[in-house]
Amino acid sequence: MITATILSIGTELLFGQTVNTNAAEVSLELQALGIGVLYHHTVGDNPGRMREVLELSLKESDIVITTGGLGPTQDDITKELIAEVMGVGTEFNEEALTRMTEMFQRLGRKNFTENNKKQAYLPVGSTVFQNDEGTAPGFALRGSTGSDFRGKVAIALPGPPREMRAMLKKDVIPYLAGLSDAALYQKNLRFYGVGESALETLLLPLIDGQTDPTIATYAKDGECIVRIASMRGTEAEAEAAVLEAVLKVKAIAGKYLYSSEGEELSEVVVRKLREKGLVLAAAESCTGGLFAKNVTDISGASAVFDRGFVTYSNEAKTELLGVPEAVIEEFGAVSRETAELMSEGALQNSAADIAIAVTGIAGPEGGTEEKPVGLCYISVSRNDEASKTILTESIKKTIIQRSRSYIRSIAVLEMFNQLLIAISEK
Ligand code: AMP
Ligand code: MG
Repeated sequence: MITATILSIGTELLFGQTVNTNAAEVSLELQALGIGVLYHHTVGDNPGRMREVLELSLKESDIVITTGGLGPTQDDITKELIAEVMGVGTEFNEEALTRMTEMFQRLGRKNFTENNKKQAYLPVGSTVFQNDEGTAPGFALRGSTGSDFRGKVAIALPGPPREMRAMLKKDVIPYLAGLSDAALYQKNLRFYGVGESALETLLLPLIDGQTDPTIATYAKDGECIVRIASMRGTEAEAEAAVLEAVLKVKAIAGKYLYSSEGEELSEVVVRKLREKGLVLAAAESCTGGLFAKNVTDISGASAVFDRGFVTYSNEAKTELLGVPEAVIEEFGAVSRETAELMSEGALQNSAADIAIAVTGIAGPEGGTEEKPVGLCYISVSRNDEASKTILTESIKKTIIQRSRSYIRSIAVLEMFNQLLIAISEK
């Protein structure tokens, strides 16, 4: 297996002012290419320490990918250090300068200072990656025969995540794919309604003693992901091995599976609503609009989402959804009765075919013995064509008490799950 170290450069990372998102993004891409990421290192803009950790990185892995320190200022020294450590000089890259001047013109910036030119100097013998999102070009440099790091590859990418990401996708992935001889194929299966340890126990016969394909479970808040990956001589072979394992996993835990394509639960629901031509409305109390936010995060949601009612107070539930005051008084705002009238009200007061409602206690205050923090009622109403009536079904769920934000996010996930159940039946 080809191995890699990711070296994040920038004092702001050490100070905690900038979160190191680049290392995570690069890791995910390398992993997908079947390259083993062995280390993440972070270093400030200090020449001595940078040189030390750069040499260490080149010793321990086949590839080192740096991000940051490619800019025009004094503390941007990544390029010079890589050249030095690899035993080469730098040379002027005409195309990089042309692109930089064009970029300055496009942005209407006049102050093209002399130090900007510094960015157009690149290590001799490097493969240049032009920067479509900014000015500093990146590059890949392979250690030559005479170098201390013969055959090792150093790849330098800009620090700003937008620039880094664009270059990673456009140039670095094709470059790295060319280095590897094995082909990787993987699938992420997503599960809801089963805990990670329970899922792992179910899959243990498959997980035990596996070498290829590998099957690994990951927990995410309220759900689980199973990654199945194979590395074979050709992509077709790897794919066949993965698909065979997918069938085995489905046979064991298929009832919890909601996506074999790595989609979010919300994405699956929006896609299915679209396929069935159904329009959705939502009435939210304890989630305060989080469900509507999650729906509208998905591009194409406008085709399926009519409106959301954030009815936090009792008065709002009565005024906007027509929940009778007497019902709230008798059963409480957090009750099955109120939830059902909320989803019915949302259906009647919108252009939707299907409506979902939630009412619950997000905490940390407000819980009682009878109605603890984490208690939620979720209700789904839809128009029944045949009987011309409204069909309503509801569930009670108690989310084991944690933070307010956790309870709200799990409530939203359960809303998507209830919708998936309802539209799959239809
Ligand atoms: P630089 O290329 O070192 O001048 O970095 C420019 C900017 O990119 C920094 O000020 C940060 O805001 C951002 N940046 C640098 N490194 C990272 C990183 N590892 N993750 C996320 N953002 C970063
Ligand atoms: Mg920097």
